[in-house]
Amino acid sequence: MTDLSSPTAAATASAERKPEGVAPPLWLLAELTYRCPLHCVFCYNPVDYATNARELDTDQWIRILREARALGAAQLGFSGGEPLMRDDLEILVGEARKLGFYTNLITSGIGLTDKRLDDLKTAGLDHIQLSFQDSTQQLNDFLSSTRTFDLKRRVAASIKAHGFPMVMNCVLHRYNLPHVDKIIEMALAMGAEYLELANTQYYGWAFANRAQLLPTREQLEAAEAVVERYRKTHGERCRIFFVVPDYFERRPKRCMNGWGAVFLGVAPDGTALPCHAARGLPGLTFPNVREASLADIWYESAAFNRFRGFDWMKEPCRSCDEKTNDLGGCRCQAYLLTGDAANADPVCDKSPAHEQVVRFVERARDASEAAALHAHGTTAPNEQPILFRNDSNSRKLASQGEIPIEPTPEARR
Ligand code: SF4
Ligand code: SF4
Repeated sequence: MTDLSSPTAAATASAERKPEGVAPPLWLLAELTYRCPLHCVFCYNPVDYATNARELDTDQWIRILREARALGAAQLGFSGGEPLMRDDLEILVGEARKLGFYTNLITSGIGLTDKRLDDLKTAGLDHIQLSFQDSTQQLNDFLSSTRTFDLKRRVAASIKAHGFPMVMNCVLHRYNLPHVDKIIEMALAMGAEYLELANTQYYGWAFANRAQLLPTREQLEAAEAVVERYRKTHGERCRIFFVVPDYFERRPKRCMNGWGAVFLGVAPDGTALPCHAARGLPGLTFPNVREASLADIWYESAAFNRFRGFDWMKEPCRSCDEKTNDLGGCRCQAYLLTGDAANADPVCDKSPAHEQVVRFVERARDASEAAALHAHGTTAPNEQPILFRNDSNSRKLASQGEIPIEPTPEARR
């Protein structure tokens, strides 16, 4: 294998082998561990994460950082699970800093003590993204199945006291969309420079809990109006991003800006992924950084080349005059909703499967009306209970084989 210990030598080596039309990755997501003290019902980790507990060690991660930087990646996210579960995080941040990455810690805040903040500051961490589940203790703690709300608030104050720029992140869904004004007020009170209101995208655990989480169109429109109001009055103090769930659109998103185009994820066990949800796609063998260099993986592996360009497309995408806009949408969504990752993303109203998406949205409205009649309940009366992300549920779901389209009752808590 090429010696990639020197970024300069490695950059030259990879540039020489760069196939025409394939740009280098810009963004590396280092998923250091799937371990996490929280149990979020919308967690984006794979539902079978508990069967992939093996983690890369410090030296292996350092090699990955060097190779990624040599390839051209400039943005680096440390994520998980909870990346603070790794006690070598500070070492990796320090190495990333030396290599010239812009680094972002994506965290629930659990374990982010003043000592670790001091050490991360010294190591050169640039930015912290802190997640909350809601503006109320009751819902925050329910959705994560922990008592962590007060701790997160203290961590937010410490992050600011240490002088880090902070993004507050809150995943939105049926339960907390009515609280958007309070969530914004909380971000303003905490001094967050950015607020990411990310409506749930339905992969991983969120897909398993889709019937409980999907909001109504009316809820979304009301929340968007609130966001617009705050942007006008407080836009200078805090930039607010509002990411609309694509089930409510008629055209799909340009997922990851294209498969193998700018994003390179490395899972805790070393599996390299063009999208962090792609692991569940059947028929693809994703390469592992233990066995191949990142340059080989990015430019030459069958998995990273599988959905590049347009040749893989089926109709209606193949002959569609909009295909350069959205590249056919999301491959994971196409698989989850049609059983074939090469189909058009059914969010698109040209897809023969689009009716399914329309039906889900209609069912969300019915469920919401039923829940309103069922005062004080956290789920509508006819729904199954919500599924929490934990090792036991993960093993049950994994034993069912492929990503479950609808999880069985036994896998629910
Ligand atoms: S979404 Fe929640 S459970 Fe999943 S990794 Fe993040 S904090 Fe942990
Ligand atoms: S048919 Fe395919 S390429 Fe055309 S707009 Fe729909 S998803 Fe995009």
